[in-house]
Amino acid sequence: MGHIEKKYWNMDMEPELNTPKMRQLQFKKLQEALIWQYENTPYNRKRFETAGVKPQDIRSFEDFAEALPAAGQDEIRGVIAEVGFDMNKIMTHIFGEKRMKDLYLLTTTSGTTGIPTPYPNFRGSLADAREIMSRAAWRMGLRPGDRIGLCFGLSMHAAGTPQILWFQDYPGITMVPIGAEAGTEKILQFMKLFNVNVFSGTPSLALHLIEKCPEILMHPIKDLGIRILMLGAEPGAGIPEVRKRLEDEYGAKVFDLGGGYGCSCDYPVYQGMHWLADDYAYYELIDPETKKPVPMEQGATGIMVGTSLHPEAAVWFDMRFTMMDIHQVFTEPCPCGFSGFRYKIIGRADDMLKVKGVPVYPAAIEGVIHSFPEQLTGAFRIVLDEPPPRVVPPLKIKIEHGENIREDGLPALEKHIQERMHKLLKVKPAITWLKPNTLEREVKKTLLLEKTYEK
Ligand SMILES: [Zn+2]
Repeated sequence: MGHIEKKYWNMDMEPELNTPKMRQLQFKKLQEALIWQYENTPYNRKRFETAGVKPQDIRSFEDFAEALPAAGQDEIRGVIAEVGFDMNKIMTHIFGEKRMKDLYLLTTTSGTTGIPTPYPNFRGSLADAREIMSRAAWRMGLRPGDRIGLCFGLSMHAAGTPQILWFQDYPGITMVPIGAEAGTEKILQFMKLFNVNVFSGTPSLALHLIEKCPEILMHPIKDLGIRILMLGAEPGAGIPEVRKRLEDEYGAKVFDLGGGYGCSCDYPVYQGMHWLADDYAYYELIDPETKKPVPMEQGATGIMVGTSLHPEAAVWFDMRFTMMDIHQVFTEPCPCGFSGFRYKIIGRADDMLKVKGVPVYPAAIEGVIHSFPEQLTGAFRIVLDEPPPRVVPPLKIKIEHGENIREDGLPALEKHIQERMHKLLKVKPAITWLKPNTLEREVKKTLLLEKTYEK
């Protein structure tokens, strides 16, 4: 048709991501945001008062990091201790009355680490999400006519119900909310029935559907005609072996979405997720132990901390807030040619295991397991005899072998897995073999740890 597609959804803003000009705009917005927080949210006002500073005292990003310690789940527990366990009081204290009057949609994060965290979506948040997610959708190649099968837990996650509202501004997209709660059989049947061609859900569910599809629909998953997988909530899609397996089995492109406002690109080697929202949120890294700022340099690692530059719409990346995710950043231009610095999710600060002082994340173990798609089912558990993070070596792992592996082949396979883990993760685990389909399959977040000390 002689029609040339625009490169970005937002041709004004996206070329400016991760530039000095953007940093100036961010600082101007940050100053306004801090005044707004001080005036409108009791919780953040108190953080200023505790630090003995006023928003006007903050004259640089360095001042900002210095003055206000990052806050996360632990600080929220402190709020609960102070105001009591009354969700309305807690939210009003944290977000302020002004925003609470504008509360439109209330979901929760999955609460794997304790109390479910409310995930309030204000009308303003949804407007911001529509812009940010449209940027992501355009880059991932979603186009008019696409149908998204929404297979995250609908009530239990930030990417659940809110996602139904993300693409309202995006022409020609149809949402089909199915929900992880529907279970494997219905998920597969609905995707086929309604000609879903974009899957949105966790990587573990996407992997599980590969195994189940031939049984339920009597054909391989490839025949569903899914052309894009938008994955999130777990770092699986960023693991090269997982991405390759999903791309091969579905015949689709695989993208990572989330852990902040970003998505991966389709460069053949995974480059992390491009951060798409410099004009909406300010991104920082801090050291897991000292909590001091980590400079944003190529390859730097730290706990991700976010601050909204549009506080009336902010959900959780409100003011130096952290979900305790460990990120690694790449600030040099991506070979794919798109703008935005990139981040990889390495794990969660509170999931970290230390084997003889070496940090190991369950997600990294998962990556190695999934790099043996022919020999292993992909299901495994890390067995912990003592509360983490410290693990007395060897690290114990139970692994399911595949259907086509004979018992006398196991010792050689075991050696092969141990060598790969040693090379990539610097640990040499003790492996216990399980028959295929011994472990319970989780439709939602996979629980990778078996804690014997809790039994
Ligand atoms: Zn890229």
